[in-house]
Formats: sequence, structure tokens, C-alpha cells
Amino acid sequence: MSEDCLFCKIIKKEIPADIVYEDDQVLAFRDISPQAPLHVLIIPHKHISTINDASENDEKLLGYMLLTAAKIARENQVDEAGYRLVINCNEQGGQTVFHVHLHLLAGRQLTRLG
Ligand code: 5GP
Ligand code: ZN
Repeated sequence: MSEDCLFCKIIKKEIPADIVYEDDQVLAFRDISPQAPLHVLIIPHKHISTINDASENDEKLLGYMLLTAAKIARENQVDEAGYRLVINCNEQGGQTVFHVHLHLLAGRQLTRLG
């Protein structure tokens, strides 16, 4: 946990969020500024600032975040139509909250990258 981290505060329930899934390892909640009809953030309980800061010890946890995203997609019936999973890193990657998070975007045709 990091004292001044927004997402750690959401995990500690100090800041409200529209939670769609939670277990002992991860929390998933709706993005406050959705970029698609379904826009969920999947975060680890463990505070990791950026994907650069993840280590070999985090390998299982990162895989678990991906599987959790796929599960949420299935539960929201967007798995067949399709969806996008994104992790932004640092300034040029567009990261604004420095607690690793996986974006799940679905419910509209997403534009091609590049
Ligand atoms: P990033 O730009 O770091 O990849 O993504 C951060 C995301 O967190 C943004 O999509 C932003 O809308 C979302 N966000 C920022 N503050 C809050 C908040 O207080 N609550 C929720 N639910 N989402 C937030
Ligand atoms: Zn944090």
C-alpha cells in the first residue's frame, strides 16, 4: 500500500468506486471517465507503480489480472464481440495514475492502433 496513491485508497475503500469484481488479489471497478460502454480497470491489491516496477515475483499476479479481465468480459457478454486490454506506462504511454492497472474496453468498435 502507498499512502498517497488514489487506487490504494480505492482498495482501502477510503474513496468510493463502482466495483465489479474483488478477491484477495485484485479489484476491478468502472473507470470514472469511460472511453467505451464498458470500461473497467483491473488493479492488483499490491501497489506496483508502473509495469516497469513489476518483478519476476509478480508474474502470476499479472497473469491473474489478464484472466480476471477475460472473466469480466465473459460476465458482461462482450467476449464474443471482442474487447481491448491496455496497460499504459509512464508519460508517453499516457499513464496518469501510478498504480499498475489494466484497462478493459468494450461495447463499441475500437479504432485500430496506429
Ligand atoms: P491511465 O491514464 O493511468 O492509464 O488510467 C487512469 C484511469 O483512471 C483513467 O482512465 C481515469 O479516467 C481513471 N480514474 C482516475 N481517477 C479515478 C477515480 O477516482 N475513480 C475511477 N473509478 N477512475 C479514475
Ligand atoms: Zn497504489
